[in-house]
Amino acid sequence: MSLSNRIAVYTGVFDPVHRGHLDVIERGSRIFDHLVVGVGNNPEKISFFNIEERVRLVREVVAPFVNVKVQPFEGLAVQFVRAVGAGVMLRGLRTTSDMEYEFTMSLMNLKLDPGIETVFLMAKAEYSHLSSSLLRQIASFGGPLDEFLPPVIKEALERRVREQQ
Ligand code: ADP
Repeated sequence: MSLSNRIAVYTGVFDPVHRGHLDVIERGSRIFDHLVVGVGNNPEKISFFNIEERVRLVREVVAPFVNVKVQPFEGLAVQFVRAVGAGVMLRGLRTTSDMEYEFTMSLMNLKLDPGIETVFLMAKAEYSHLSSSLLRQIASFGGPLDEFLPPVIKEALERRVREQQ
């Protein structure tokens, strides 16, 4: 299949999706004709929400964006990107510590598939400290989440924490 630079793929674990991810999705949807959000697994970690739950939660919060689709994927991200016919992989960059990992990853992906380019968007200052793992920790201590999560995600996270206690 030929790859289109008008289609981008944004992959992540989204455990759960937060406002930092949503900001990248919204800005990406304005740059590209189509944006596919690929929800994957981290093979080294058991996720808090399973893949079906994570896909459903991402779908709920991206519903306002008409050119954004959400799909689960397994295996290498570049293979998924190629399978959907996209020529661009979209990534968000938070801090300088993200840089090293993302730089290595983008070079490896270019090696794995030279037909796919990685495009980075800098996280907005107000979201640059946000990560799903930090939000899970805040939730487990009953801390405030409204600033960081859309209401539907906040409720799902708080419900899951209660179920586990
Ligand atoms: P997390 O690190 O929050 O678990 P993911 O593995 O789901 O996130 O990350 C998917 C993509 O989203 C990566 O490109 C990551 O750098 C980006 N990202 C994560 N958090 C943010 C944020 N707060 N602002 C912008 N981009 C982010």
